[in-house]
Amino acid sequence: MKIYDVLILGAGASGLMCASYLDKNLQVAIVDVNEKVAKKLKISGGGKCNITNVEVSENNFDGDKELVEYALSVFSRDDLLNFLNDNGVEPVIRKDRYYFCKNSSDEIIDILKRKTQHFDTLLKTEIIELKKIDNIFELKTSKSVLKSKKVVVATGGKSFKSLGASEIGLKIAKDFAIKVKEFTPALVGMTLQKEQFWMKELSGLSCYVHITVNDKILKEEMLFAHKGISGPSVLSASLYWQKGTVSVNFLPNSNIINLINSSKKLVSSVIPLPKRLSRAILKALNVEDIECGKLNKEAIENLKNIHSYEFAPAGNFGFIKAEVSRGGIISSELNRYTLEALDVEGLYFTGEVVDVTGELGGYNFQWAFSSAVVCANSMNC
Ligand SMILES: Cc1cc2nc3c(=O)[nH]c(=O)nc-3n(C[C@H](O)[C@H](O)[C@H](O)COP(=O)(O)OP(=O)(O)OC[C@H]3O[C@@H](n4cnc5c(N)ncnc54)[C@H](O)[C@@H]3O)c2cc1C
Repeated sequence: MKIYDVLILGAGASGLMCASYLDKNLQVAIVDVNEKVAKKLKISGGGKCNITNVEVSENNFDGDKELVEYALSVFSRDDLLNFLNDNGVEPVIRKDRYYFCKNSSDEIIDILKRKTQHFDTLLKTEIIELKKIDNIFELKTSKSVLKSKKVVVATGGKSFKSLGASEIGLKIAKDFAIKVKEFTPALVGMTLQKEQFWMKELSGLSCYVHITVNDKILKEEMLFAHKGISGPSVLSASLYWQKGTVSVNFLPNSNIINLINSSKKLVSSVIPLPKRLSRAILKALNVEDIECGKLNKEAIENLKNIHSYEFAPAGNFGFIKAEVSRGGIISSELNRYTLEALDVEGLYFTGEVVDVTGELGGYNFQWAFSSAVVCANSMNC
């Protein structure tokens, strides 16, 4: 029976990038349950995938900062952009900070396919179990048993089951007594408690806000949805929120005290937000929509909370809507410089299956790619 040098579990962003950087002379197989490679990459960012960001540092990630810092030093944003440029793809910058494919995610997928075409890609093959017997790994799949000297687990997180997601990475780790943190949904909309149901009535509206969660401030659009709140600022905030309150500044670029100087105008008409939203916020703050000059001291105090509207979300929209899963293989179980499990020689973990999660804005692909290259480099040595 053939014994591969490396089996890569998962033909997603991380698994394919890892394979792309492996020595061509190695015997490698990439295994995936889907009928096509890189399904998440394909649909992400509205089909143009947001692959990285103008500003990338370990501070954009939830997880082991030193692990992320090292991975970014090995394969930085510029290294990623150079890799793409060298292969004929020039991503474009949107909204001054997000790098997207110009026309379609296929631009990147085609590079990854080309770079891995000399390896075996085994699709429609579900990974069931991994064992290590006499220093050789045995992978049980829905089709056969595959043997290999080394294994890279790049099976991603749990969100979007329809795209092949599963918890097999955590199962494999647990079978080898490697500690994991269970997956929870992240980069996901938030549901609301009764007191904030007024936001649901604004479904479809959006505005630029600053959301503070613990010591993080997320500065982006917030979208009111019929299920709760969403949009880039809320998705990023969900990464840092587990329970407790968040605080929303609905007017980060103005000062409400200056705005209510125009004494004859109605309060709602001096607030630079859609009228429907201004009125709803005033109601939530217990401020009457009267002429600014007629506001009493108490109303002005209440109105100041437009800069720090505090509330406790009820929960989130769950794995069906979550862009990523927080949690995964605990970083202290891995060699930071290789991503090999400290106690299982030859077993590596890369990408979303590791307990590192990025904010919204291309950080999760950057991590998937950077961690993949760390792993590939160490196997080429
Ligand atoms: C809708 C959506 C939009 C997103 N947009 C962005 C974005 O614009 N920018 C960004 O940075 N991130 C984005 N993300 C997150 C990003 O897609 C992931 O973080 C990234 O794909 C992780 O790469 P990975 O290789 O670790 O996992 P994946 O890309 O998920 O790859 C894992 C692979 O493993 C396979 N697999 C899993 N279990 C099994 C099994 N039991 N048997 C066989 N195969 C299995 C899967 O089929 C999959 O192909 C988005 C996610 C979603 C869901």
